[in-house]
Amino acid sequence: MAIYKQAEVVRQNQSPAFDAIHAPRTPTPFSGIYRCEACGFEIVSSEDHPLPALHRQHPANLPIQWRLVVYAN
Ligand SMILES: [Zn+2]
Repeated sequence: MAIYKQAEVVRQNQSPAFDAIHAPRTPTPFSGIYRCEACGFEIVSSEDHPLPALHRQHPANLPIQWRLVVYAN
């Protein structure tokens, strides 16, 4: 789970961008923190860079799918 200290520099937002699921190797739609839907592992990815196809500690029997957790504005 993403962790922060200063609540005044982060705000909640209901954008559908946080609901979309992204396949590995697709271009990152928005720079920020992404979470693997299968196992909860989090990564940082920059806009237009491919989302990772692999990450450490991912269970081999489940597909990696990425969801935006924190948008870097
Ligand atoms: Zn995973």
